[in-house]
Amino acid sequence: MNRPRRIAFLSEHANPLAMLGGADAGGQNVYVSEVSRNLAQRGYVVDVFTRRDSPATPEVTSYVPGVRVINLSAGPLQPRPKDELWPYMPAFRDALQHFIERDETHYDLVHGNFWMSGWVAVELRRRLAIPVVQIFHAMGKTKRLHQKRVDTSPGDRIQSELAVIQQADSIIAQCPHERFELVNDYGADPRKVALIPSAVNTNIFRPIARDEARQRIGLDTQQKVIVYVGRMLPRKDIRNVVRALALLVQQDERTQDASVSPITLMIVGGESAQPDPLATPEIGELQKLAAELGVTHHMRFIGNRQAAELCNYYSAADVAVTTPWYEPFGLTPLEAMACGRPVIGSAVGGITYTIKDGETGLLVPPRDPAALAICLRQLLTQPALCLQMGLAARRRVEQEFTWSMVAMRTAALYEMLLTERLQAPLPLEPLSLLSLPLVSNTTSAEEMDCDAH
Ligand code: UDP
Repeated sequence: MNRPRRIAFLSEHANPLAMLGGADAGGQNVYVSEVSRNLAQRGYVVDVFTRRDSPATPEVTSYVPGVRVINLSAGPLQPRPKDELWPYMPAFRDALQHFIERDETHYDLVHGNFWMSGWVAVELRRRLAIPVVQIFHAMGKTKRLHQKRVDTSPGDRIQSELAVIQQADSIIAQCPHERFELVNDYGADPRKVALIPSAVNTNIFRPIARDEARQRIGLDTQQKVIVYVGRMLPRKDIRNVVRALALLVQQDERTQDASVSPITLMIVGGESAQPDPLATPEIGELQKLAAELGVTHHMRFIGNRQAAELCNYYSAADVAVTTPWYEPFGLTPLEAMACGRPVIGSAVGGITYTIKDGETGLLVPPRDPAALAICLRQLLTQPALCLQMGLAARRRVEQEFTWSMVAMRTAALYEMLLTERLQAPLPLEPLSLLSLPLVSNTTSAEEMDCDAH
């Protein structure tokens, strides 16, 4: 490389500097943060473009050497749910183009994150004649299938995804299931789909002895501990874990076999660092369910925690659990694995790829508390098996799932596309032909209670 390659990384709602754990701040933020920083370590210069959501946020922030975060004004200067951002995407595109002209930056490639930034990315592709790599993080058809009426996505999400898939030069699938969705549900050209699994930061997420971890977080107990870490959304189905917990407790009481009792379910995530059912309605739902099932005193809501602290929570547990209805990739199972803990996960999406069933954890059907209770009992009564699976889990992430590997594969993809472009340059299109259709969202307030992604 003569001069460093410059990459425009678009992520309209997921800012790499955001606090994580709330409804719209999770895996995508981590991806943008880790991939941009690891690309910079490989010599790329990366500008992450995101939506400015506060007047106090400066337009440009230097993140780490080689990475800037550019906050573009598009829509209100306040946080908005991401499903309300679609109408602001033309303004986001125009602000981005303005910034490029003003800053006199020449980008070599655009990397779009999520479908809305994908739309902006392909718009930019036509204006600047540079290649586009797109990663969706979640697909609209799958979300609609599972969430049906409560899917708050704008009505033309799927149509826009189809257009982005047609026009992007390459699409990253994070796991074989996502590749299947892209090719089979959306008719993507399989040659355009690159499988690059996401990863975990193995320096931040590392095993800590169980008792030490418990001491660090003030968990003064010798009980069996199950941990859930993640956004608090209905589709993550933490209610399923509460139901399985109740089954375990009832079984122990009925048979007077205390093999998994006493037991605690620790739940990390939500809008605030203190668990607050007003700020995080799903906490209220879980509290109600726990009371109905008589397991209130077996549950501990922690609130959200940031990456540096999370390894204490994973390591304090005997087993980590995540049983969503669907999961595009799922970073939290990898984080628990990196902390040397076995994970029980539902056999959906990326989880079937990251967890090696029977080796690093167990897979269960979603929405099946009885199956989850059986697996929990199996692991909680066998500490030696947990230890063995935890060791295998850590080995697996070190070998297969590090962000430096993701950056290496992403860089190889960029270089391939840039070489192709050198041989066959993209035509610059006249502005009059530009702009994909943009249809406004009509979601009723009563439907707004559900998930994200
Ligand atoms: N997370 C966090 N603090 C919390 C809850 C979650 O930092 O209190 C992080 C978690 O560690 C993970 C991400 O949010 O890195 C969630 O990513 P995942 O892919 O599991 O789910 P998504 O948010 O993409 O649905």
